[in-house]
Amino acid sequence: MREGSLDAPVRHPINWNDPDFYDMDKILAEMDRVFDICHGCRRCFNLCDSFPVLFDLIDESESGELDGVDKADYKKVADACTLCDMCFMVSCPYVPPHEFDLDFPHLMLRYRAAERKAGHNDVATDQLTRTDRNGRLASMAPGLANWASDLDNGLTRGLLESVARVDRQAALPKYYGKTFERRAKANPAARDAKAPAAGRKVVLYATCFANYNNPNIGEATLAVLARNGVEVEVAYPQCCGMPQFEQGKLDEVAEAARNIAKALLPYVDRGYDVVALVPSCALMMKFEWPLLLPDDAEVKRLAQATFDVTEYVVDIAQKEGLAEGLRPLEGGVAVHIACHARAQNMGNKAREMLKLIPDTPVKQLPRCSGHGGSWGVLKGNFETALKIGKPVARDVYKAEHKYVSSECPLAGMHILQGMERIAADQPEGERKPVPSQSYHPIELLAMAYGLGPAGGASR
Ligand code: SF4
Ligand code: SF4
Repeated sequence: MREGSLDAPVRHPINWNDPDFYDMDKILAEMDRVFDICHGCRRCFNLCDSFPVLFDLIDESESGELDGVDKADYKKVADACTLCDMCFMVSCPYVPPHEFDLDFPHLMLRYRAAERKAGHNDVATDQLTRTDRNGRLASMAPGLANWASDLDNGLTRGLLESVARVDRQAALPKYYGKTFERRAKANPAARDAKAPAAGRKVVLYATCFANYNNPNIGEATLAVLARNGVEVEVAYPQCCGMPQFEQGKLDEVAEAARNIAKALLPYVDRGYDVVALVPSCALMMKFEWPLLLPDDAEVKRLAQATFDVTEYVVDIAQKEGLAEGLRPLEGGVAVHIACHARAQNMGNKAREMLKLIPDTPVKQLPRCSGHGGSWGVLKGNFETALKIGKPVARDVYKAEHKYVSSECPLAGMHILQGMERIAADQPEGERKPVPSQSYHPIELLAMAYGLGPAGGASR
């Protein structure tokens, strides 16, 4: 529920096929209107870097008002937005149906799409976010890819920083030779007809991250669902397009939406539910795709059949009850609730799911990790990303739970890096050890079932 409003937020379709959508004069006029409302409100001053940039520009201008800010500087505000959606979904009382009709993140998205249309492309980010191509190449030689991206490899990380603007201190995900899709084909999940959720059928949308960077998330989900009697299939047509969405490449996202809907709807027609393993992808499938393609019946039908993985497990627990066999996780869990999970307006399902594990303390961390997808690893952003995520990292560091968890694997890695910085600032002798990896909540549920050791996302 958003602060200060009882109405559910309503989002307008994204008119990316309308030439006006890319008209920079109209975009700047809308930014004037929205930024002036935000200047009077300032509620979001500590949500991210975008609002502090805006408020500093205003406060440091000659007039102390928005009219004193050079419009060329609006780009700084747009560039600082990670499209986390927190201002729209959680904070802002002026979103539609309010008459102010304010949608800050989608305005930043429109600005980026217009910049891109005008030919301002960031080649480095463009290459970095081609997740399928990068994943396919890296999975052919994972040893080489992981050697090159290792934080201790000064030579390649220096090169990556100068060529692709990836900060040499930012931890990057590892790659696997055997992707989740290939592993799942080798080990089809079997349904146990006696288990509580027998009769349910799921197609797991593998997501690029679980497929190439952490198949353990997929394997843990397969194991948990099979233990609960769910018949499971795995599909990975292509990336959901979130990295392209962040860059304003809306035509590419629309194409991905159409392709994935075509690939997954035959399962839906046979009675399967669609479960996405990473919240950013579930958010795209459930909310952003239908806004991009409001007249596409297939995309709409897929959206209605899609669940976030934690949402789905909690649904089983509420309707059929979970299969027995969960054992306590000694030492408890500190779980970060990812922004894109909160933006799905489904409640804190990761916490609810972990609370199903008996006698296991669960500490919830609802603030932003600061990572922001590809944004947070770039030179110039990484330190800001750590600063934004410091309250979460500090809370986890203080809490001393054995397991660090986030539904967003990149956020999990980023929190660990923030904890290392905090540990390094402590006097020697008072430093607490920082866990070497974070886990998706479903990996911890699998662990509580005794279904094999979870791999987790490492630093
Ligand atoms: S979407 Fe997130 S990053 Fe962008 S302005 Fe809103 S809170 Fe800040
Ligand atoms: S987005 Fe809404 S809540 Fe946030 S500063 Fe602007 S007007 Fe205020």
